Amino acid sequence: MESRTEIKSRAVKPSRLYGGSNQPKYSAQFATHVCTMGTFASFLAPEVIDHLRLVIEGRRALDPKYADDIAEGLLTWAMQRGATHYTHWFQPLTGAAAEKHDAFLTLSSKGAAIEKFKGSELLRGEPDASSFPSGGLRTTHSARGYTVWDPMSPPFLWEGAQGLTLCLPSLFFSWTKEALDYKIPLLRSDQKIEAVGLRLAKFFGVPAKAIFSTLGAEQEYFLIERSLYSMRPDLMLAGRTVFGAKPAKGQELEDHYFGAISERVLAFMRDFEEHAIRLGIPLKTRHNEVAPAQHETAPIFEKASLAIDHNLMLMEIMRQTAVRHDLACLLHEKPFQGINGSGKHCNWSLATDTGLNLLDPKGNKLLFLTLLTAVVAAVHEHAAMLRSSIASAGNDHRLGGSEAPPTIISIYLGAALEGIVDDLIRGKFATEPKANDPIDLCLSHMPPHEADLSDRNRTSFFAFTGNKFEFRAVGSAQHPALPITVINAIVADRLALILDELARDTPDGTPPKPDVVYRILQQHLKPSVGVVFGGNGYTMEWEEEAKRRKLPNIRHSVEAFHAFQTPSSIRAFEHILNEKEIASRVEIAEERYAKTLQIEINLMIDLCRTRILPAALDDQKTRAGALERLSYGKIKPDERIVRDVETLQGVIGDAIEAIDALALVREQVAGMGFEAKAKILGDLGRTKMQRAREIVDRLEAIVDAGKWPLPKYEEMLFWS
Ligand code: ADP
Ligand code: MG
Repeated sequence: MESRTEIKSRAVKPSRLYGGSNQPKYSAQFATHVCTMGTFASFLAPEVIDHLRLVIEGRRALDPKYADDIAEGLLTWAMQRGATHYTHWFQPLTGAAAEKHDAFLTLSSKGAAIEKFKGSELLRGEPDASSFPSGGLRTTHSARGYTVWDPMSPPFLWEGAQGLTLCLPSLFFSWTKEALDYKIPLLRSDQKIEAVGLRLAKFFGVPAKAIFSTLGAEQEYFLIERSLYSMRPDLMLAGRTVFGAKPAKGQELEDHYFGAISERVLAFMRDFEEHAIRLGIPLKTRHNEVAPAQHETAPIFEKASLAIDHNLMLMEIMRQTAVRHDLACLLHEKPFQGINGSGKHCNWSLATDTGLNLLDPKGNKLLFLTLLTAVVAAVHEHAAMLRSSIASAGNDHRLGGSEAPPTIISIYLGAALEGIVDDLIRGKFATEPKANDPIDLCLSHMPPHEADLSDRNRTSFFAFTGNKFEFRAVGSAQHPALPITVINAIVADRLALILDELARDTPDGTPPKPDVVYRILQQHLKPSVGVVFGGNGYTMEWEEEAKRRKLPNIRHSVEAFHAFQTPSSIRAFEHILNEKEIASRVEIAEERYAKTLQIEINLMIDLCRTRILPAALDDQKTRAGALERLSYGKIKPDERIVRDVETLQGVIGDAIEAIDALALVREQVAGMGFEAKAKILGDLGRTKMQRAREIVDRLEAIVDAGKWPLPKYEEMLFWS
């Protein structure tokens, strides 16, 4: 194995250099691996295409009589590009996409080898549902589960090392008809918000035949040298470092954020971007993030269901591309303590088929204010549900630190909209936000620049950013479907209430009267406005203020999971998740939380007992031996040297004690159910883990660096 110094001194070369006129444009490569509507049209009869279009728009159920034609066309298209296999690509509750490949290869009745793909094979696959997390919905003896092709997401060709696989985006459910995936509830939530969104549009006379939620997910990640990663079992097994002393330098100089991107990182970015572009993922932005070795990529927003598929694909592409570049892409929310963690900011809005953004303040004013009111009131009423939608052991390390939104759920609207909301509450029904003065830089050659209506607030859980909401609390590793499902659910729930009241007070066929609208919005805003907060969410004063406003502050995820099961959550989930399906999600979240902590505790104990303590004792032996030799030579050792050796011995002793205490917690929870386990590990377990980490990190700061058995923070973080 290479030593750490050898790895660090290895020449840093980009895999290839780009540029020149033969460099293919992203637009020319865009979606070449996707079976788009245009591709379908190249091999299907116009009648089938018309049908498929209605299916994709959600207006017709797919007619199975067309399945054979579609399958045959897909087979030809995929084979022409070199595909040999197909798979139903689905999103079980593990959080990652799942696939089981089948070859197109089949044997004819005469025994000849041929390629074939039947309509029935396109429509449905059947994996073992009991081997995926089902939260009690499936047991090993009732294993039947189905994956069915979802025509709303286009089929695509996944590039692997040795060829291409035709992926058919699919839904996953049990024989007993319960949703076993993230996708079914997401699509149901979109149907729900569409129905009420269309009522909203019709009420205010805004033309729309279809409405859907949109998502632009900004993805943060860390990138480190693969060989160092392979020497850190904690990164490999848990995605984060369970030990690691603070390096001499962290992010305090703020020199990484938007800094020049190094060649090797850029080569990696370029490579994964091209891969993503071929799959129709519209990547737009790339930059260095605040922490050393941290970066971000962001796509152009899309219909949420497609953007969610794309985010899952993107995370996998990034992980695999990193391997090819001798790098490791870390998507965990907090791989390194003491520097920023990673988020997946989910930008959400509602769009119409006519190209309108319903959260655009420059659009229909009354409609905008009604939707805004629905969002504010929904976030206020269902704050705990939103908190629950982003709850995980990983995200707990990030939320509430001075780098990510706190655990108090608040909405940031910006001064202009806050002013309008205040006016509405006080019955002053002016609706024009005051435009900001243009920005004059006092430079003779620079024109005045228009200022946005609102500033940005990075400390807010849920922030209005001009014409969309940014849910900043979502964790980088998270499946984005759950938070989006919850936003759709709670906004649809409140919007329906408001529209019912508006309809009651507005006779059929008459245009809505502004005063009637304002009065009803006022009634919804008054009790909810406490959730609006424009200040710095990272301060203690806000914590105190939030307490006075009676806003929930759910610090630890383990206390958040059951928020899905309150009566108001169950109502908001109506037509999206039934009570059994909700209970299964809670159970899975709890189980995953307990298992994650259990793995981290195992890692701490193993790393300490089999690597760290032997190294520390070896160092102790060397130092004590030196002292002994000094006294043989009749030189009295300096008492300060003796003191240092004694300190080391003391910290080693403390580490042994702290690790023994962790082992005791592990024994204590063995055999318990996951709910009880999650509670104990989330409380006592976390305290003992923190204690063990403090001591081992102290040890790292004094033990001979040449003997320390794990790559250090400075080696992993400052390489590019
Ligand atoms: P930021 O300054 O927060 O990075 P950007 O303008 O770069 O904001 O947008 C961040 C993300 O928000 C991008 O993915 C962008 O496509 C997405 N976005 C923009 N408009 C919308 C919208 N109407 N709905 C959903 N996402 C949107
Ligand atoms: Mg951004």
